[in-house]
Amino acid sequence: MGTELSFLMRKTMTEKIMCYTCETERAVEQEERKETVTIKGKEVEFTAISYRCTVCGDEFETPGQMDANLEAAREAYALCDETFSPDELVALRSSYNASQKAFGLLLGFGELTMNSYEKGSIPTSTNRLLIKLASDPYCFRKMYEVNRNRIGETQRKRIETSTGYRKAQRP
Ligand SMILES: [Zn+2]
Repeated sequence: MGTELSFLMRKTMTEKIMCYTCETERAVEQEERKETVTIKGKEVEFTAISYRCTVCGDEFETPGQMDANLEAAREAYALCDETFSPDELVALRSSYNASQKAFGLLLGFGELTMNSYEKGSIPTSTNRLLIKLASDPYCFRKMYEVNRNRIGETQRKRIETSTGYRKAQRP
């Protein structure tokens, strides 16, 4: 995981925080930085917050802050994760055991749209969102319930018995 830092903003905090270098509570400056991390080949940008002791100058993160920064990175990654590669699209569609045509129709696309996406065309932002939603079995099931009449009986059977679809099966 590569990390690249760029400085954003600095402000002095009103409350004192324990500095582990000075081993006493100190006035600190809060620093906000844009951080870019590379996760699974995708660049993700998020805001990280850390503190700098005004006496010794050491920079540190409180344990809660480390969690918050990690959470910020996760959230940023989740947002960035809305793009799908052709391989990911095939894997998603296969998890529901659906044909390109049937999968596209269930999501509200044209008959040939999935075919072009799986060949490398970039989905529109609306369709990226629909694909993202379809990657959640519960959302996919809702889409299926709305559009199931657009596809044939054979496809319906295949999809209803797929591992992806069954994940959303209520007990
Ligand atoms: Zn200090």
